[in-house]
Amino acid sequence: MSSGRTHDRITLWTLPLVVLVAFRITLDGWLTVVVCLGFLLGGWVLGPDLDIHSVQYKRWGWLRWIWLPYRGSMRHRSRWSHGPIIGTTVRVLYVSVWLALAGLVVVDVLNHAGRTALTWGDLLRGIGWGMQTYWPWWLALVAGLELGALSHYGADWLSSRTKRRKRRTVNPRAKGRGQRAKGRGQKAKGRRQRAKGKRH
Ligand SMILES: [Zn+2]
Repeated sequence: MSSGRTHDRITLWTLPLVVLVAFRITLDGWLTVVVCLGFLLGGWVLGPDLDIHSVQYKRWGWLRWIWLPYRGSMRHRSRWSHGPIIGTTVRVLYVSVWLALAGLVVVDVLNHAGRTALTWGDLLRGIGWGMQTYWPWWLALVAGLELGALSHYGADWLSSRTKRRKRRTVNPRAKGRGQRAKGRGQKAKGRRQRAKGKRH
């Protein structure tokens, strides 16, 4: 597992590549900006390591407690947090639930104060309209979030591979010893079987 700082750096270093690819695909400056925003958010704030006490988790400041149920319900680096597509989907849904709750509280308070007269239906229609009208922007944001998470998964995968290789170079005899012991065991077994054959 790479450290939080390494992940932050990788996100920053790969940003120019994301700018290029996003602009090539969208051919739109503002959509590219949204993809990049999503990418930075996905790497720095809404990242896969929210499943542990990480830099990303600490960046939520006094709101970090909202991630406690998320952390508690999955193993670190499980596919629910570190799986391509599924990780981002779970996090986006999770944040949406909290946003919806916050929205309901705000609307309720405003309604009670007599400033608004909004119903649940009004809210749902408003959200539906926003999604339909601005769908390219939402899509750009989610694509950016997923790219940010992908850079994280890639770095995690590379670092565990390197660690495994290093372990093998530091202790190359570990496997050899095991095989030799196994070889000795097989020879002994052969001897026992031959002796048994002579007895019959
Ligand atoms: Zn990770």
